[in-house]
Amino acid sequence: EAKMQGRGLYCVFEPSMGEHLRDRRQFEHDIRHAISRKELRLVYQPQAQLQSNEVFGFEALLRWDHPERGAVPPAVFIPVAEECGAILKIGEWVLRTACAEAASWQQPLAISVNVSAMQLHGGNLPELVGAVLKETGLDPFRLELEITETCLIKDIGRALAALRQLKSLGVQIAMDDFGTGYSSLSNLRAFPFDKIKVDQSLIRAVDTSDEAAAVMRAVFGLARGLKLPVLAEGVETDAELTFLRQEACDAIQGYLLGRPCPISDFAQHTSGKGRTPASRRQSNHELR
Ligand code: C2E
Ligand code: MG
Ligand code: MG
Ligand code: MG
Repeated sequence: EAKMQGRGLYCVFEPSMGEHLRDRRQFEHDIRHAISRKELRLVYQPQAQLQSNEVFGFEALLRWDHPERGAVPPAVFIPVAEECGAILKIGEWVLRTACAEAASWQQPLAISVNVSAMQLHGGNLPELVGAVLKETGLDPFRLELEITETCLIKDIGRALAALRQLKSLGVQIAMDDFGTGYSSLSNLRAFPFDKIKVDQSLIRAVDTSDEAAAVMRAVFGLARGLKLPVLAEGVETDAELTFLRQEACDAIQGYLLGRPCPISDFAQHTSGKGRTPASRRQSNHELR
């Protein structure tokens, strides 16, 4: 009887698994062609210093407008692009597009670009970054590369060599999503980071939960010991902001300051001109 059930299940699942594989192959095919089909674009999210309230830079975030599926979130397509290798070309496009954009601004604001593990281990990231800086004329100090811990655990020696080469170009390196991975504490000490970006999961509930607040205070203590500035990601509420101010957090990013948007929405920051009435209406990226 069990055998029959097993068989039955097999028969039921087989076609759908075949469909799933076809779907997956189609999805990979679509990702590979997303650049040439001009389906990718970048949105930019402001980052501000907490003491001065000043927007000092933007993080570039990738968006894919698929002709049939609509907007596909990066959390869905980045892992697939990593698995099929398409992330190398996509990451190059992101770097080049973000640096060219930032080089066109009248204000020398910082630009943060996410780098995935495969790019870091692929071997030529420092060469690529050097070439893009030269090509776009962007001051290396304005470029920050965001690296997650999982990028670093695969081949520590190789990752460290690549990061040192990148540092020698003059770019900044931030640890992204701090608090979500593992082996983070030893990595923080071993790698040449300039900043810690604390994941939004650690920010959430700092104002309502003593335990969440204690974890966040421990992160600030650690960062002070290592003399690294902290940026809190995903700040959404005034209560979270108040806590972060009390703890002397250095910088924030999040919906409270501004959602990721086309760069034209932030013209008052990038053009050096005053705010336009239109931008004043649609934006809330100024702290109270
Ligand atoms: P990330 O690098 O940690 O980027 C921050 C994410 O948090 C973004 O999600 C952003 O939209 C979201 N976020 C910002 N503020 C808030 C907030 O106040 N509340 C909430 N709930 N969310 C907030 P997004 O754009 O969906 O990107 C997700 C992840 O995809 C990124 O996380 C990053 O790991 C990856 N990603 C995005 N663009 C690229 C890229 O160009 N290259 C690579 N390799 N990865 C990318
Ligand atoms: Mg990031
Ligand atoms: Mg990231
Ligand atoms: Mg992050």
